[in-house]
Amino acid sequence: MSDSKETYKGSNFIRNIIIKDLEEGKNEGRVHTRFPPEPNGYLHIGHAKSICLNFGMAEEFGGMCNLRFDDTNPLKEDTEYVESIRRDVKWLGFDWEDREYFASDYFGKFYEYAIQLVKDGYAYVDDLTAEEIRQHRGSLTEAGKESPFRNRSAEENLDLLERMRKGEFKDGEKVLRAKIDMSSPNINMRDPVIYRIAHAEHHNTGGEWCIYPMYDFAHGLEDSIEGITHSLCTLEFEDHRPLYDWFLEKLGVYHPQQIEFARLNLTNTVMSKRKLLKLVQDKYVNGWDDPRMPTIAGLRRRGFTPESIRMFTDIIGVSKSNSIIEYSLLENCLRDDLNKRAHRRMAVLDPLKMVIVNYPEGQEELLEAENNPENEADGKRMIPFGRELYIEREDFMENPPKKYFRLSPGGEIRLKHAYYVKCVDVIKDADGNVTEVHCTYDPASRGGWTEDGRKVKGTSHWVSAKHAVKCEVRMYDNLFTRENPDDVEEGKDFTANINPDSLKITECWGEPALAEAVEFTSFQFMRQGYFVADPDTTKEKPVFNRTVSLKDSWAKEQQKS
Ligand code: ATP
Ligand code: MG
Repeated sequence: MSDSKETYKGSNFIRNIIIKDLEEGKNEGRVHTRFPPEPNGYLHIGHAKSICLNFGMAEEFGGMCNLRFDDTNPLKEDTEYVESIRRDVKWLGFDWEDREYFASDYFGKFYEYAIQLVKDGYAYVDDLTAEEIRQHRGSLTEAGKESPFRNRSAEENLDLLERMRKGEFKDGEKVLRAKIDMSSPNINMRDPVIYRIAHAEHHNTGGEWCIYPMYDFAHGLEDSIEGITHSLCTLEFEDHRPLYDWFLEKLGVYHPQQIEFARLNLTNTVMSKRKLLKLVQDKYVNGWDDPRMPTIAGLRRRGFTPESIRMFTDIIGVSKSNSIIEYSLLENCLRDDLNKRAHRRMAVLDPLKMVIVNYPEGQEELLEAENNPENEADGKRMIPFGRELYIEREDFMENPPKKYFRLSPGGEIRLKHAYYVKCVDVIKDADGNVTEVHCTYDPASRGGWTEDGRKVKGTSHWVSAKHAVKCEVRMYDNLFTRENPDDVEEGKDFTANINPDSLKITECWGEPALAEAVEFTSFQFMRQGYFVADPDTTKEKPVFNRTVSLKDSWAKEQQKS
């Protein structure tokens, strides 16, 4: 059944299939896709690939894309997840208009379809336990065994199904199974379970049902009911496609086409919802939107933009073969985007005091600075300057090596947007640590250049000591130390690879304007990286998350070697 031997041109073979279908006039020229999350966790970057693909194809071909909550399992689903999914899809920039559906809204229809299968001799009620069914299933090399209940009459099956639905049986006592072929080489076709009993409240239908349909039965029917043309899912469903097709054929209903593509895997992170839930529940992270999480909510809080995530999914494309993508590729997309849109600010992370000895005591002035050299329309801001400043400690060295272009005794540098300054003295504490550098400034170099054309090699960022605001800075690193977090010793799980230093909380001194930063606004702290205002930020205590460094240190390492 696999069509993975075909070669696909371009980076998105699904686009080619759709183009061909349109040329052949299939589905009356309609393109209708859906994004079908199960509301049992927050969406992650892998889902973003699926969202961009489904909504993207619909958009490109003038079609439609539904948002469908695939909520057929009452035990794991929750309305908190439903709301987070809506928020995240919208934030990524996609609109499902009025086409929001719940699989659970179709429970009545699914049940009618099940009755039809029973009447037509394509389904039966089985009394075997889950364990017995498993034992009867056989293996890849061994055919399955038929259940002793397989040949019940349609009447008896109908009666039992009705009583299952009424709640006469306990969980696990009976199931409804499709009657297909216990010796099929495809194990999915060996009389799969269609309905199971679960006396459980459902987040949408409450106590109305005590039997729930299984995914493989429900999914194709959901697609059929909604008139989906191209049902895009991940590769692990390739072996389920014959079953998808079987239900639709036997029921004689509208038949969408299932197409499988490779799921997204990223280095240094995990993407299964089960694992993400464990990280949250066992408090390895501070919730689903922790900036270290690969969830959309986490990426957003980390400072990712919808544009960067969409760019990323465009670049990685859609294929039929599984691969693992470097996390740095995602970060590079973000740098590209933030470079264009993030306003520049100055902030000092490790302050060293600088006193401008020839600047009059008590005097201060405002200096003009562009917000973004990449975009003039972003305008300018004013930065206060005075006699006492902070510079970055690493921007000064008392005994510099050759080719050190930053400040050292007797040397001259430019203070960004301000003046040329020359180091005239160094103050130390009793232990010999430098506590202040004293400089003179050149009043004729206002704005950071001189008329005599004198050149300096180094430029430092700085803040006025009197005006700077102290901010909390949360520095993040990979959540896992290994590229593949599942690479563990026997008996351990992926949490053994958690990076103990994935979060370091520190401080910085920033331009006064940073106190006004609105949550989720990104900045480039000059020479330091991109930072985003966290939802915890307040005027009194601004809080920033480091999104990403300015340069890709991994790529730099590669270049060196
Ligand atoms: P998980 O394995 O993380 O629990 P799932 O497949 O069970 O994910 P669903 O809510 O069923 O999660 O997924 C909704 C849609 O997103 C499905 O169509 C699924 O194929 C797709 N999807 C999930 N994970 C990925 C991924 N890593 N890459 C691409 N698409 C994905
Ligand atoms: Mg799923």
